[in-house]
Amino acid sequence: MFKIQWDKKTGGVLLGSVVTKETLNIAPRPVFYEELNLLGLNNLGWSYPECEEPLMWACNKEYYYRGEFAFEVKGANIYEKATVVLQSGYEKLKLVPVNMKAMLEKTKEQMFLCESEAIEFIRDVYDTYTGANRLSEMYAANQMDFEVLAAKQEKRVKQKMAIVKEDCDSFDIMPESEAQQQGKKVLQTTKIDYFLASFSGGKDSQVVLDLCTRALPPDAYQVIYSDTGYELPSSLELYEEVQAFYKKRFPTLKFNLVKNHESVLNYWDKIGTPSDKHRWCCAVMKTAPLYRTLKVPGTNKQAKVLAFEGVRAEESSRRSGYERIGKGVKHTFVTNARPILKWSTTEIFLYLFRHGLSINKAYRLGKPRVGCIFCPFSSPWDDMVVNQCYPNELAPFLNRVTDWAKDRKIPNLTEYISERKWKLRASGNLVNKTSSVEFLKSTKDFIAIVSNPHVDIFTWLITIGDFTIDKKGSKVYGEFKYNKQVYSFELDSTASNKYKFTVFNATDVILVKLLRRIVYKSVHCISCEACEVECPTGALSVYPEVKIDKNKCTHCHNCLNFHDHGCIVANSLETTMDNKKNVGNISKYGTFGLHEEWLEEYFLDPQITYWVKGNNSLGVKQIPSFKAWLKDAEIINDKNLITPFGEFCAENIINDSELIWSLIWINLSYNSELVKWFVNNVNASQLFNSTILAEQSMEHFASSFSRTTIEYAFQALVQVFNYSPIGDYLLQGEKVDKKSLTRNEYTGISEVAVAYSLYKFAEKNNAYSLRVKDFYDTEYENGVAKEFCLSSSTFEKALRTLNSAKDRVLIAELNMGLNHITLMKELTSLDVIKRLF
Ligand code: SF4
Ligand code: SF4
Repeated sequence: MFKIQWDKKTGGVLLGSVVTKETLNIAPRPVFYEELNLLGLNNLGWSYPECEEPLMWACNKEYYYRGEFAFEVKGANIYEKATVVLQSGYEKLKLVPVNMKAMLEKTKEQMFLCESEAIEFIRDVYDTYTGANRLSEMYAANQMDFEVLAAKQEKRVKQKMAIVKEDCDSFDIMPESEAQQQGKKVLQTTKIDYFLASFSGGKDSQVVLDLCTRALPPDAYQVIYSDTGYELPSSLELYEEVQAFYKKRFPTLKFNLVKNHESVLNYWDKIGTPSDKHRWCCAVMKTAPLYRTLKVPGTNKQAKVLAFEGVRAEESSRRSGYERIGKGVKHTFVTNARPILKWSTTEIFLYLFRHGLSINKAYRLGKPRVGCIFCPFSSPWDDMVVNQCYPNELAPFLNRVTDWAKDRKIPNLTEYISERKWKLRASGNLVNKTSSVEFLKSTKDFIAIVSNPHVDIFTWLITIGDFTIDKKGSKVYGEFKYNKQVYSFELDSTASNKYKFTVFNATDVILVKLLRRIVYKSVHCISCEACEVECPTGALSVYPEVKIDKNKCTHCHNCLNFHDHGCIVANSLETTMDNKKNVGNISKYGTFGLHEEWLEEYFLDPQITYWVKGNNSLGVKQIPSFKAWLKDAEIINDKNLITPFGEFCAENIINDSELIWSLIWINLSYNSELVKWFVNNVNASQLFNSTILAEQSMEHFASSFSRTTIEYAFQALVQVFNYSPIGDYLLQGEKVDKKSLTRNEYTGISEVAVAYSLYKFAEKNNAYSLRVKDFYDTEYENGVAKEFCLSSSTFEKALRTLNSAKDRVLIAELNMGLNHITLMKELTSLDVIKRLF
């Protein structure tokens, strides 16, 4: 909230409201003697007392003593301590602790303002929602549900509506823009069953809990701590300490420690390690156990919860966009209130110091953030601290990752662990499993071949619609209702624990998607708990076995749509989605990428004679590589002749380099296995180079190609980024430094390219009625959002332009909850560019 600067007199910091030349760019964290000991400063000639107070401050990897840069740290990984690089003049130093009393005195006014404002916010939120609770009870007698009314109105008037609380203690529903204009108090929900301070062992949640104890009566809320099973020992200790501390002061304040029914290592074995792509651990080990304890008393129905949480904007760019109060950010039944959203790290520590609250020992050891013991989202620095300080607790996880890497014969094992390459797991290809599903291609029927499912398919079929069944021998026949239509199905048990499930005439894309999801759930469900909390009616319970009460199920599909594949476990186990057996050739490019000047040269004379020696400037090894790229770009055919698409580009859009290369990139994403893997697996902002891509894709390609072939193939892809506009102009492989590139959203994409990509997608999936959100679903491969990392706002903007174009090629309905795109079956992707260009 406040600007921070050093205070040389106290050795601490000052807070202020105006920016001066002394203002720091980064909020520093305090550094204690434990961290300096870990770094070995006591053996490097420094002396300092082993005291409670901080001795210095750190901004990332730079350490400051009394406002002066004293040293920086380099390196550090799970096996090696960091190297300390002392600044000249700091070789020998006798540290004096920060004068806490003086620093806290100098910052007290600003901290008082921070705290008072946060306390007022907590009280205000609590009063507003308890008031709304009372009102909604009053209205419940008249059967009035304002949330349902607002949702209905939104659909009718196609405008976002807000429920507002009037001064005279009544509700009103009005357009959100009007409510904002009139400064009305907008309610996210009209009923809260439980108020909650979620505690994680970290400093931020600790501050929020303390603020809640100061703002609210102790029996108004409860404290819940989710023990993931690989918590840092210091976090568990702090939880016990915090509980004892507040219980003494507020005996009626409820504390609750919750856990998943199964251990985290068992889940690692069953569904693979958490990774950059598969972040199942938070949902399964943390959130699901937490919210499963919060049901409406006497029922299985999910209670409505208001959680005061320690999210801060400074933590990430995503969080910086959060509102202070929001509903349904992750779960529809949770309203999140964030009292310290704008606080800095420094202010958080100052609060803990001011109020004499205990600090998680992991911070004293130098961990900037407190999370799980071995986490894909922490850093090599975190690994170093954990391995130095908690080797026994880390050992089971580290051993598991090491053993798996040995089984897979990963070369350079030390580097694989120290550089955290294990977190790149993208698929479940190498996870041991006995269950499987294969979806057969059919123009009109939905067909799944299932082996060893964990759950009866009819258990999950209830979620799609009411159904009837009739058994005859090894076959089960039946019908279910979906969207007012009746569909027939057949289940043929071909062998014990193996069957073929067919739904006839299932051509509706949404239905097909839902059917795939119930099949995935039935094949892979291990009752991980994650989807139960998505059920708004209490119909679904998953542990110890899946049960769905058909009288309560409203077929809302929340439990199917909450996650890709409809199941967090199936998603983690995906075997690179049905194409593992059929990985296309990636060695055809050699190590050469597609060069812009080669294409320019070819387009000047796109005849078959171009390929004759002497008619081009290419080296002998470059020719087959260039041909392979041009074929995958659909510019030449198998006979090396130019295609109609190639001709159109050469004759009409040769001067529009960004459009040509956008179209090429789209074609490559369908025809080049390498590019297809890239667009579907490498996230925006991820740093990469050919080695990282090879490692990340190993599970996908390893069953078909050697490690060397995979590495060469990605060297060729990196050349595409370096030698064509796809890299720096379309931002799909933008140079960051000598060693790394990154992907970014290509906001400058032309509407022609968007339309072309939509038609390619439709041709591939035989689906001409689409939804914007399908393009963000990992179940579908490719699509313009993944090809260019488009945000939904950029995508929708292009759709609106196309919708109002004179020669329109699609209808986009994007108002109020609608996100439908209708394409014209009679047009091909090539027709579309001809028509729009
Ligand atoms: S269906 Fe999937 S997400 Fe739901 S409980 Fe089972 S394993 Fe978990
Ligand atoms: S989430 Fe919806 S579809 Fe799933 S069980 Fe509950 S009511 Fe039925």
